[in-house]
Amino acid sequence: MAHVLVTGGTGFLGSHTIARLLASGHKVTTTLRSLKRQPDVEKMLAVAGAPGREGVSYVEADLTSDAGWDRAVAGADHVLHIASPFPGSRPKDENELIVPARDGALRVLRAARDAGVRRVVLTSSFAAVGYGHGPTDRVFTEADWTNLDGPGVTPYVKSKAVAERAAWDFVAAEGNGLELTTINPVGIFGPVLGPDYAGSVRIIHSMLTGAMRAAPPIRTNTVDVRDVAELHIKAMTSPAAAGQRYLALAGEPISFQQIALALRSQLGEAAAKAPTRSAPAWLLRLLSIASPQLRETVPQLGVVRRADNAKAREQLDWAPRSNEESVLASARSLVRLGLLAD
Ligand code: NAP
Repeated sequence: MAHVLVTGGTGFLGSHTIARLLASGHKVTTTLRSLKRQPDVEKMLAVAGAPGREGVSYVEADLTSDAGWDRAVAGADHVLHIASPFPGSRPKDENELIVPARDGALRVLRAARDAGVRRVVLTSSFAAVGYGHGPTDRVFTEADWTNLDGPGVTPYVKSKAVAERAAWDFVAAEGNGLELTTINPVGIFGPVLGPDYAGSVRIIHSMLTGAMRAAPPIRTNTVDVRDVAELHIKAMTSPAAAGQRYLALAGEPISFQQIALALRSQLGEAAAKAPTRSAPAWLLRLLSIASPQLRETVPQLGVVRRADNAKAREQLDWAPRSNEESVLASARSLVRLGLLAD
């Protein structure tokens, strides 16, 4: 069994990945921006039923500072670098996301190299693969890169593409044998473990609370957080995965309307407020003039981004859950944990 450092233990994916590593018998260290959040992580690991959670070590480290990273990587065989800013709204200055994402990844890689870590698996994103290409029917694969000068490239998208590029450039130029693998997930859904869940699940929250009164004409790709965690662990040890990127998605995109329908048909009363109507794109464009939140969705209207998960399935024997299973799992967990109140 290996000693694994997971960065960002407070996060949706970070906490699930720790739980999965513990269930497989690995020793885990995780970084937090502040050790004050340790009890929150412990609670999430308890909700996940993770065995041996009292054995997890916690180290304070921020992506924007050098402090703590050498302690965090000490003794680790592998690093799963998951932490990166994932905000609910667009920042005024794109560098609020780009700088921590890029410089943080470089800090982690440098520390890992200096400590003799074998492989770093970096959580990148489909945001580094399939954005900035305008409307297209093509099916994106791991050979594709986001076009930073193209349409629909938000500061978050840019932060993920820039950070992943910087990571590959670093291992090529100064890695000194350190292996890198990236996982490029689409929108992550699946069960939340506590109130601090990622922005992706807010879509389900707003459907269940009735805040989303009509479904926008958006089709999205999904993947279950448990499957993304599993893919990181497979990528961590598979000899085939060194130097590779892996797209992580369930399959074909699903529309917001299909999600709302699945919630209504499977959750009964709990999904009574999920939208039954579809909102026309022109109305959303108009309303977005006054709503910064809607403005973020406008570039997605009518855009379908198809991608292929064959590489992860074939090389790493990865078998993801369906779109429907992962969105229903998000919804059921929000209901079960009483997180629909706000
Ligand atoms: P999340 O719950 O918001 O987790 C983000 C994590 O990054 C948190 O632990 C957060 O710590 C940490 N972080 C942010 N800024 C930091 C900084 N300056 N220093 C140290 N840690 C920092 O979102 P998530 O979905 O689990 O995201 C995990 C990874 O998956 C990210 O790399 C994200 O880009 C990627 N991803 C997510 C999705 C998705 O749909 N959710 C899709 C594709 C890729 P705090 O709790 O202290 O803020």
